[in-house]
Amino acid sequence: MHPASLFPAIEAMKATSNLPGEFELIARYFAPLAAKFPGAYGLLDDAAVIAPPPGHELVAKTDAIVGGVHFFDDDPPDLIARKALRVNLSDLAAKGAVPRAYMLDIMLPGNVSEQWIAAFARGLAQDQGEYRVHLIGGDTDSTPGPAAIAIVAFGDVAAGQMIRRCGARAGDTVFVTGTIGDAALGLEVLRGTLPNLDANAASALVDRYRLPRPRVTLGPRLIGLASAALDVSDGLLADLRHICEVSDLAAVIEECRVPLSRAAQAALSISPERIATVLAGGDDYEILFTAAPTAAGELTELSRRLDVPITAIGRMESLSDGDGHQIRVLDESGHPRAFARSGWTHF
Ligand code: ADP
Ligand code: MG
Repeated sequence: MHPASLFPAIEAMKATSNLPGEFELIARYFAPLAAKFPGAYGLLDDAAVIAPPPGHELVAKTDAIVGGVHFFDDDPPDLIARKALRVNLSDLAAKGAVPRAYMLDIMLPGNVSEQWIAAFARGLAQDQGEYRVHLIGGDTDSTPGPAAIAIVAFGDVAAGQMIRRCGARAGDTVFVTGTIGDAALGLEVLRGTLPNLDANAASALVDRYRLPRPRVTLGPRLIGLASAALDVSDGLLADLRHICEVSDLAAVIEECRVPLSRAAQAALSISPERIATVLAGGDDYEILFTAAPTAAGELTELSRRLDVPITAIGRMESLSDGDGHQIRVLDESGHPRAFARSGWTHF
């Protein structure tokens, strides 16, 4: 995009930047990531062409990450890149889509080095191999603020089959993949607010914060099984509330069923009140979904075959069944628990 050179901050930054020009950067670091996708035209045209296979639709999703908000400025650039891509792939997975291509808008402050960009592109290359997606275009800008990275991801889904947030029914079981709370606890480790945790547990949690594992193999297999789904990014309780709201239902969760990693269990044994972080912290990038109780057998089989843990943690109820709260969390003895907040919001 054409820069608004009226802004003195941007002019000053240009003077101090030691980067090669925008087009040289694109050719050197981004064009190789588009080489295998014919419709990207080598990143030498204005736009890309992408068509779904016959009988399919494209599912589109965008998510941005911002330095100081979603990552720390001194985080390894390859991990920043992979997280930026993976948070989008996680949404596609939760919608039942198979990831295909993505676009990258990158806004960089003047003090970023070429090595930083090279490492960033290496991170993308690694995940392109792992998830079989291709870069097909984007935009490269300078910014007077912290680095910001926006990705638009596209995936294929059979026409009309995208798994929606609505569609849950009273009596459905609530399931979640993987383990919950690791990333939010990992962020606490990075902030120094979870001392006394052994080094192995601490590094396992930090790893989950820095590098989400989007459930791309499972997501498309949930079509026909899940009545509603989303990925857990704001926090388990907040995201479950999203399903409740669009389905006009309530949900009850049994706290003791929420799947925890050993590292999270270690953190909770030191600090039991961190259960609030686990249930409301977010950044899990697991799939939360509802399904009829009769789907349980098929889900167990899928879980085994794909090696993705799937755990039943509660059930959907009609709003009039419970105590008027949309989400109830029951402790071991069946008593409702109260939480100060259910998830992350920006403003
Ligand atoms: P325009 O002048 O039309 O805005 P640009 O000059 O911004 O286009 O970009 C030229 C080409 O390079 C386009 O194909 C665009 O998609 C691609 N491109 C620019 N930045 C990136 C990026 N960060 N990642 C991938 N492709 C990019
Ligand atoms: Mg152009």
